[in-house]
Amino acid sequence: MPRTEAPPVTPTPMSRRRTSASVVLRSVLEHGPVARSTISRLTGLSPASVTDYCARFSELGLIRESAVPRRSNGVGRPHVPVDLDDSRFVVGGVHVAVPYTTVALLDLRGRVLARRELKHEHTAPESVLARAAEALGALLDAAPGCRPLGVGVAVGGWVDRDSGTVVEHPLLGWHDVPVREVLGARTGLPVHVDGHARALVNAERLFGRARGSRSVLHLFVGNVVDAAFATNDEVHHGPRSQAGTIAHLPVPGGTEPCDCGRTGCLQAELSERTLCRRARRAGVIESVNPMHVVAAAAAGDPEAARLLVERAGAVGRAVRLLLDVLNPETVVVTEIGVMHRQDCLTALHEGVGSERATSVMPTGFPDSVLAVAGGAVALDVLFRDPLTLSHLSGLNSETPNVDRASA
Ligand SMILES: [Zn+2]
Repeated sequence: MPRTEAPPVTPTPMSRRRTSASVVLRSVLEHGPVARSTISRLTGLSPASVTDYCARFSELGLIRESAVPRRSNGVGRPHVPVDLDDSRFVVGGVHVAVPYTTVALLDLRGRVLARRELKHEHTAPESVLARAAEALGALLDAAPGCRPLGVGVAVGGWVDRDSGTVVEHPLLGWHDVPVREVLGARTGLPVHVDGHARALVNAERLFGRARGSRSVLHLFVGNVVDAAFATNDEVHHGPRSQAGTIAHLPVPGGTEPCDCGRTGCLQAELSERTLCRRARRAGVIESVNPMHVVAAAAAGDPEAARLLVERAGAVGRAVRLLLDVLNPETVVVTEIGVMHRQDCLTALHEGVGSERATSVMPTGFPDSVLAVAGGAVALDVLFRDPLTLSHLSGLNSETPNVDRASA
């Protein structure tokens, strides 16, 4: 499956720009139940055009009229508000981490309906993707009546969204893996692939902590350490989606040797592997599971807490560097200590430095971050271009589009 040739460089497709349809559906997501007249006022689109888009979304089953009509000033025709119809459609989410793959079903509000974790026996792409497709098929079989619109895949490392390819993920040993092609063939569904930091920035923007923020930076600190930056709803990709590759950014005071030959690179310093190795050396845990360090700290082990606080402080110093470069309004950090412990959040804020610390917050999805990451890739496509996606996924036909036999 791995290809030796690099995928072609493609220009930004038109569909990536925000369309009026997207603006209307986003407004329903954020404000629903909401009157069409309010959508018109919020978006600046004409009432006729909002009514037209709402009629099309309603036909597609993406929105419905809310049960409770609201009267405007108590006189005249009632304004029947519209809301997202979250009862019909789901998206599949696949997140490939180093030790395991998370497979999930999400509704249109980004809520996780079902999920499964598949521990990797090995990380050969053929086997990882085949098992993900199989698990996705099983989740769909267990959720009759939910029609899948598509599948989103989030992977760390270098991912080229336009070609749906994982270009390079050294920790998984993946090189030029055509994920969209392989998973699309196995599931019979439209598949969208993106880097997980960008997937999470979209999740926070659409459903989480960064709603309404004009610019947001997301920093993911797992085994992979990467970042994504969005302004005015656009996630910056750069040529071949290489933006956010910050694994080898030098951390002030870092001591950890990196594969690249230098010392104190961000990923070497902050990865969960490093945390676990330090915790094993200190006799805190015997496993390779970073959640065991969090559990040990919660059980009162002071060394476990110290390691987590130290790491959170270093994450804060990395955030400070990125703040200086990008100056985002909001920073969302996905890191296990910060997600679960107040002392880590405090250390993070201290690392950032006081005056900007309030704009730095942990992820809005502490219990489902990986499941949400995968699904958000597909949901971002839906909310960005709802009418095109409905066409792609055969919404107008009555025949379910998923090929369960091959999934
Ligand atoms: Zn390095």
